Amino acid sequence: MPYYVGRVVDSEQSLVARTPEAFRKKQNIDVRIRHEVEAVDLAGRRVSGRDLESGAVFEKPFDTLLIATGASPMVPDIPGVRSRNVFTLSSLEGGVELRRFVDENAPKRAVIVGGGYIGLEMAEALLGRGIETALIEREAEVMGTLDPDMGSLVSGAVEEAGVALYRKESLTGFEVGGDAVRAVVTDQRTLPVDMVILGLGVRPASGLARDAGIPLGEKGSIRVNDRMQTPVEGVWAAGDCAESFHLVSRRPFWVALGTVANKHGRVAGMNLSGGDEIFPGVVGTAVTKMKDTEVARTGLMEREIRALGLDFVQARIDDRTRAGYYPGSAKITVKLLAEKGSGRLLGGQIVGGEGSAKRIDVIAAALHAGFSAGQLLYLDLGYAPPFSPVWDPVLTAARVLVSSF
Ligand SMILES: Cc1cc2nc3c(=O)[nH]c(=O)nc-3n(C[C@H](O)[C@H](O)[C@H](O)COP(=O)(O)OP(=O)(O)OC[C@H]3O[C@@H](n4cnc5c(N)ncnc54)[C@H](O)[C@@H]3O)c2cc1C
Repeated sequence: MPYYVGRVVDSEQSLVARTPEAFRKKQNIDVRIRHEVEAVDLAGRRVSGRDLESGAVFEKPFDTLLIATGASPMVPDIPGVRSRNVFTLSSLEGGVELRRFVDENAPKRAVIVGGGYIGLEMAEALLGRGIETALIEREAEVMGTLDPDMGSLVSGAVEEAGVALYRKESLTGFEVGGDAVRAVVTDQRTLPVDMVILGLGVRPASGLARDAGIPLGEKGSIRVNDRMQTPVEGVWAAGDCAESFHLVSRRPFWVALGTVANKHGRVAGMNLSGGDEIFPGVVGTAVTKMKDTEVARTGLMEREIRALGLDFVQARIDDRTRAGYYPGSAKITVKLLAEKGSGRLLGGQIVGGEGSAKRIDVIAAALHAGFSAGQLLYLDLGYAPPFSPVWDPVLTAARVLVSSF
């Protein structure tokens, strides 16, 4: 049964990896959905909360506790922000609600606030539904996890896709009529709307842990060691609510990504059930796309490198994703950053057509290995004309980087 229509998932059911029943049957795990934990009593070793359907209060004792409460979307404190046509997208239910709104109300104009991963992916989805879409971004370019010179390529792709992009512009308020926002007000204009999507980023959902007295770390995430253990005996944390370690900066780091959350979960699960597994850390790898433009980043960006007080060199090259003469090759831009002197690779960013984004994985692996630009340059990567030029664009960028030392 095909689930994909074009490139959009057709049924939300296909997004459910495992149901509570499957957990019960296959692993004898008692999954209670619609149950919210409201407090953790560390001294009494119990959690308490509420059944959200019946309202009944529950209490559960524990020997070992894993906190995996995820992240919460940032919502500005602006009158009208709770209106029925204002959405954040942070859960499957939220996505279903948003889609239902679009199906039932056939909105003509949407404004997205925030040009990060969620903002871009939502812009593409709304355009796909024929909705006139505007995007407001406070910074000079979208994708603040890229350096501005690379972000500008993504801004170009956003505009080319047909989104009205307003950069260096901030949301200041909403004009509300009845139970809906009728217009989005920025510091420069008023945009009439039928729906609003807020993609302003997320923060760790660590309130439960904080209130229980569990120490927090980077950006308010739950502090853990490399076994995913919090400083409190018998209490573990994993996923978007928990801290990671950055292998390039060698500092605590917080990132909310499924890639990291899955690994956290594996390591925490193995350790709390008696194993001995280490999660070494992350390099900050992420990919996304805007229509045909793929976007990828890993490691440190210029701003982060400067904040660490490191001197760096950089190279940025324009190339093709396949041999130039081969049909279907697309433009690709690769940027690499390395420490001046040692040549240690610090980060990389890629923007380009089909086949661009996953090339970031080579750079991510090089960062894990602590490679210098010179070591990256001579990696034995595969080549045939349908897949890449004979020097893969990542290697070409390394070649230029090495010559800039
Ligand atoms: C639209 C969207 C697209 C994304 N795309 C990507 C992508 O392409 N690649 C990628 O790597 N990552 C992506 N992510 C991020 C990824 O989904 C998260 O990093 C991942 O789901 C985190 O897993 P988690 O288990 O830590 O948290 P979650 O999946 O958020 O799960 C936490 C759960 O805890 C529950 N909970 C919270 N508090 C309580 C409480 N007090 N009591 C009981 N339950 C509670 C929440 O309801 C939630 O179900 C995306 C996220 C979004 C929103």
